[in-house]
Amino acid sequence: MRLSRYLLPILREVPKEAEIVSHRLMLRAGMVRQESAGIYAWLPLGKKVLDKICNVIREEQNRSGAIEIMMPTIQSADLWRESGRYDDYGKEMLRIKDRHERDMLYGPTNEEMLTEIVRAYVKSYKDLPLNLYHIQWKFRDEVRPRFGVMRSREFLMKDAYSVDLDFENAVIAYNRMFVAYLRTFARLGLKAIPMVADTGPIGGNHSHEFIILASTGESEVFCHADYLDMAPPPAGIDFRDPAALQATVDQWTSLYAATEEKHDEAAFNAVEEGKRLSARGIEVGHIFYFGTKYSEPMGAKVTGPDGVERPVHMGSYGIGPSRLVAAIIEASHDENGIIWPDDIAPFKVGILNLKVGDAATDATCEQLYATLTAKGVDVLYDDTEERPGSKFATADLIGLPWQIIVGPKGLAAGTVELKRRADGARENLSVESALARVLG
Ligand code: ATP
Ligand code: MG
Repeated sequence: MRLSRYLLPILREVPKEAEIVSHRLMLRAGMVRQESAGIYAWLPLGKKVLDKICNVIREEQNRSGAIEIMMPTIQSADLWRESGRYDDYGKEMLRIKDRHERDMLYGPTNEEMLTEIVRAYVKSYKDLPLNLYHIQWKFRDEVRPRFGVMRSREFLMKDAYSVDLDFENAVIAYNRMFVAYLRTFARLGLKAIPMVADTGPIGGNHSHEFIILASTGESEVFCHADYLDMAPPPAGIDFRDPAALQATVDQWTSLYAATEEKHDEAAFNAVEEGKRLSARGIEVGHIFYFGTKYSEPMGAKVTGPDGVERPVHMGSYGIGPSRLVAAIIEASHDENGIIWPDDIAPFKVGILNLKVGDAATDATCEQLYATLTAKGVDVLYDDTEERPGSKFATADLIGLPWQIIVGPKGLAAGTVELKRRADGARENLSVESALARVLG
């Protein structure tokens, strides 16, 4: 992409309305625009990051055996009357009437709809296990939308729903998602800690919130410091091996970790001195086994091996990709701007032309741009008339992981400058070596 042809509305001033650093940086980097309270348009740079996050989530969901579908945003109230949630769900639900005066709603979540699909098509234990997910916009009329896309009213969610014959199989499905989440967040460059969460009337201990520590987090959390050094499960982990999954879950639940609601002061104090972490956290994912809560009232039943019909056991598994954009920035930035992990960066490489109009500089930039583009690398070529200082500031603000700085002085000596955003390291290299490093 040539910056001169792109829409990148950079703000030099720090926007006053933004209270936390990720919101300030997202506005300054021209990633989102607020359209109404808690409702955002995703501008080109923001959309690219959001898509990259969704792709990591998708790859890990697919690897675990989950299958992607797409359910609508608008749902019928009747579906929610079947589960009894239409009246229970508070003002967070946006209720709408269509032209025939039918009650509709903008989905805050999809348990009912998924259960309806299962009821229609899944009849036998032989069709199970099943885990269906989609990545779709949700609407919740939050009391206090704030912190930009961190707590918005319209937000993107990956929600998966597992369907199993009985509790034992549902636990295996739960563990699959647990492991997939560990891998997903690690790939996004985050240290997400699974913390015991409330199960309400369902009971049991199959509910975990995945929390990243950040001073701007909304919840108070307590955990063992060793979580920060635990290695995520490898890509090769066998999702069809219940014992391997259980071993990983056991390891990741062996140490103390709880949010405020589930906090047990005595258990926390039993953690050795110096390892007790009490901090603020951001919830980036939530997994939950809820048994037959929806299948029972909605009549989603399968026939077991014994020929007897029974309601299926289900769980739901959410991740907020739009919140994650902000959460990753909270976890990874400096005074100059965002530091994207390579896999999430909107562009992997920036080419900074320090003297547009200079024949040699233009030619080298064009050559770099063509070569990298041909190799399938996402490149942003700053071919604008801006001053060098402003180009450096922009590249750092929007967090381009590799920056190739091209100017007449360096070229006279046969070099370009390669800068790594994460640590600021700079090197003068030949064009070929710079390309090799970036492609390496
Ligand atoms: P919270 O406690 O933060 O309101 P929740 O418990 O309501 O979250 P879930 O219903 O479990 O969230 O939704 C799954 C995921 O969707 C959350 O882990 C979070 O990443 C994301 N999410 C939920 N509400 C919002 C929101 N208002 N804005 C952005 N992302 C959200
Ligand atoms: Mg909520």
